Amino acid sequence: MDKKKTPKQPFFKGIKEDFKNYNKINENEEKVFKSKLFSSYKGTFVLKTPFRSSFSFGIIALSKRQQNAETLKHEYGHRLQLKQMGLFKYIKHVAIPSVTAYRLHRKGKLTLDYYGSPWEHEADTLGNVNRKTNNTPWQIPQNTTATRMLKQMK
Ligand SMILES: [Zn+2]
Repeated sequence: MDKKKTPKQPFFKGIKEDFKNYNKINENEEKVFKSKLFSSYKGTFVLKTPFRSSFSFGIIALSKRQQNAETLKHEYGHRLQLKQMGLFKYIKHVAIPSVTAYRLHRKGKLTLDYYGSPWEHEADTLGNVNRKTNNTPWQIPQNTTATRMLKQMK
Protein backbone atom coordinates (compact mmCIF):
# COMPACT_ATOMS: atom_id res chain seq x y z
CA MET A 1 0.00 0.00 0.00
CA ASP A 2 1.25 3.41 -0.90
CA LYS A 3 0.43 5.67 2.02
CA LYS A 4 1.13 8.85 0.08
CA LYS A 5 -1.70 8.17 -2.31
CA THR A 6 -4.50 10.68 -1.97
CA PRO A 7 -7.86 8.99 -1.47
CA LYS A 8 -9.35 8.40 -4.88
CA GLN A 9 -12.97 8.86 -5.69
CA PRO A 10 -14.49 5.42 -5.09
CA PHE A 11 -15.13 3.59 -8.33
CA PHE A 12 -18.86 3.05 -7.88
CA LYS A 13 -19.40 6.66 -6.89
CA GLY A 14 -17.65 7.59 -10.14
CA ILE A 15 -19.97 5.34 -12.12
CA LYS A 16 -22.97 6.91 -10.43
CA GLU A 17 -21.63 10.31 -11.50
CA ASP A 18 -21.23 9.00 -15.07
CA PHE A 19 -24.90 7.99 -15.13
CA LYS A 20 -25.91 11.36 -13.75
CA ASN A 21 -23.76 13.31 -16.23
CA TYR A 22 -24.57 11.12 -19.21
CA ASN A 23 -25.75 13.17 -22.16
CA LYS A 24 -25.96 11.37 -25.45
CA ILE A 25 -25.51 14.50 -27.56
CA ASN A 26 -22.65 15.94 -25.50
CA GLU A 27 -20.08 17.75 -27.67
CA ASN A 28 -17.75 18.89 -24.90
CA GLU A 29 -14.49 16.92 -24.95
CA GLU A 30 -13.68 17.88 -21.35
CA LYS A 31 -16.82 16.14 -20.14
CA VAL A 32 -15.60 12.96 -21.78
CA PHE A 33 -12.19 13.24 -20.08
CA LYS A 34 -13.80 13.91 -16.68
CA SER A 35 -15.92 10.76 -16.80
CA LYS A 36 -14.83 7.80 -14.73
CA LEU A 37 -15.74 5.00 -17.11
CA PHE A 38 -18.21 6.10 -19.73
CA SER A 39 -19.77 9.09 -21.43
CA SER A 40 -20.98 10.11 -24.84
CA TYR A 41 -19.56 12.26 -27.61
CA LYS A 42 -21.78 13.54 -30.42
CA GLY A 43 -24.13 10.61 -30.03
CA THR A 44 -21.40 7.97 -29.75
CA PHE A 45 -20.81 5.97 -26.58
CA VAL A 46 -17.31 6.49 -25.14
CA LEU A 47 -15.75 3.90 -22.88
CA LYS A 48 -12.47 4.53 -21.08
CA THR A 49 -10.12 1.61 -21.36
CA PRO A 50 -6.82 0.61 -19.75
CA PHE A 51 -5.40 -0.29 -23.20
CA ARG A 52 -2.36 1.46 -24.64
CA SER A 53 -4.18 2.89 -27.62
CA SER A 54 -7.69 3.96 -28.53
CA PHE A 55 -9.95 2.50 -31.17
CA SER A 56 -13.42 2.87 -32.54
CA PHE A 57 -15.81 0.14 -33.45
CA GLY A 58 -19.33 1.48 -33.21
CA ILE A 59 -18.39 2.88 -29.84
CA ILE A 60 -15.25 4.80 -29.01
CA ALA A 61 -12.84 2.94 -26.75
CA LEU A 62 -10.67 5.75 -25.44
CA SER A 63 -7.45 4.80 -23.71
CA LYS A 64 -6.93 6.33 -20.26
CA ARG A 65 -3.49 7.34 -21.56
CA GLN A 66 -4.96 9.29 -24.47
CA GLN A 67 -7.25 11.80 -22.83
CA ASN A 68 -6.88 14.47 -25.48
CA ALA A 69 -9.16 16.12 -28.02
CA GLU A 70 -7.03 15.03 -30.99
CA THR A 71 -7.50 11.33 -30.18
CA LEU A 72 -11.18 11.68 -29.29
CA LYS A 73 -11.99 13.58 -32.50
CA HIS A 74 -9.95 11.14 -34.57
CA GLU A 75 -11.81 8.14 -33.13
CA TYR A 76 -15.07 9.96 -33.76
CA GLY A 77 -13.93 10.28 -37.39
CA HIS A 78 -13.59 6.49 -37.49
CA ARG A 79 -17.12 6.25 -36.06
CA LEU A 80 -18.37 8.31 -39.00
CA GLN A 81 -16.46 6.10 -41.44
CA LEU A 82 -18.28 3.07 -40.05
CA LYS A 83 -21.62 4.85 -40.46
CA GLN A 84 -20.81 5.81 -44.04
CA MET A 85 -19.23 2.53 -45.15
CA GLY A 86 -21.18 -0.04 -43.24
CA LEU A 87 -19.59 -2.79 -41.17
CA PHE A 88 -18.14 -4.95 -43.93
CA LYS A 89 -16.36 -2.16 -45.77
CA TYR A 90 -15.21 -0.63 -42.49
CA ILE A 91 -13.57 -3.89 -41.42
CA LYS A 92 -11.96 -4.37 -44.82
CA HIS A 93 -10.89 -0.83 -45.58
CA VAL A 94 -10.27 0.66 -42.13
CA ALA A 95 -10.07 -1.83 -39.26
CA ILE A 96 -7.75 -4.43 -40.80
CA PRO A 97 -5.36 -2.01 -42.55
CA SER A 98 -5.13 0.23 -39.48
CA VAL A 99 -4.30 -2.69 -37.18
CA THR A 100 -1.70 -3.85 -39.72
CA ALA A 101 -0.21 -0.36 -40.01
CA TYR A 102 -0.17 0.04 -36.24
CA ARG A 103 1.70 -3.24 -35.78
CA LEU A 104 4.26 -2.23 -38.41
CA HIS A 105 4.57 1.18 -36.78
CA ARG A 106 5.23 -0.41 -33.37
CA LYS A 107 7.93 -2.59 -34.89
CA GLY A 108 9.50 0.40 -36.61
CA LYS A 109 8.73 -1.07 -40.01
CA LEU A 110 6.19 1.45 -41.22
CA THR A 111 8.06 3.59 -43.70
CA LEU A 112 5.28 6.15 -44.11
CA ASP A 113 3.46 8.43 -41.67
CA TYR A 114 0.86 6.40 -39.75
CA TYR A 115 -1.72 9.19 -39.85
CA GLY A 116 -1.13 9.83 -43.54
CA SER A 117 -2.71 6.57 -44.74
CA PRO A 118 -5.98 7.11 -46.64
CA TRP A 119 -8.12 5.64 -43.81
CA GLU A 120 -6.39 7.57 -40.97
CA HIS A 121 -6.26 10.77 -43.00
CA GLU A 122 -9.98 10.47 -43.68
CA ALA A 123 -10.74 9.85 -39.99
CA ASP A 124 -8.86 13.06 -39.15
CA THR A 125 -10.78 14.99 -41.78
CA LEU A 126 -14.18 13.65 -40.72
CA GLY A 127 -13.40 14.16 -37.03
CA ASN A 128 -12.08 17.68 -37.61
CA VAL A 129 -8.56 17.01 -36.39
CA ASN A 130 -5.81 19.44 -37.30
CA ARG A 131 -2.73 17.38 -36.69
CA LYS A 132 0.37 19.55 -36.62
CA THR A 133 3.15 17.03 -36.25
CA ASN A 134 2.21 14.50 -38.89
CA ASN A 135 -0.57 13.45 -41.25
CA THR A 136 1.45 13.58 -44.45
CA PRO A 137 -0.77 11.87 -47.04
CA TRP A 138 0.72 8.74 -48.58
CA GLN A 139 1.71 9.06 -52.20
CA ILE A 140 0.10 6.03 -53.75
CA PRO A 141 1.31 5.15 -57.27
CA GLN A 142 -1.47 4.37 -59.74
CA ASN A 143 -0.47 0.74 -60.17
CA THR A 144 -0.88 -0.12 -56.46
CA THR A 145 -3.07 0.44 -53.40
CA ALA A 146 -2.35 1.51 -49.83
CA THR A 147 -3.07 -2.03 -48.59
CA ARG A 148 -0.57 -3.47 -51.08
CA MET A 149 1.98 -0.93 -49.95
CA LEU A 150 1.47 -2.15 -46.37
CA LYS A 151 2.06 -5.74 -47.40
CA GLN A 152 5.40 -4.79 -48.89
CA MET A 153 6.57 -3.32 -45.57
CA LYS A 154 6.13 -6.57 -43.65
ZN1 LIG B 1 -7.11 5.87 -36.48
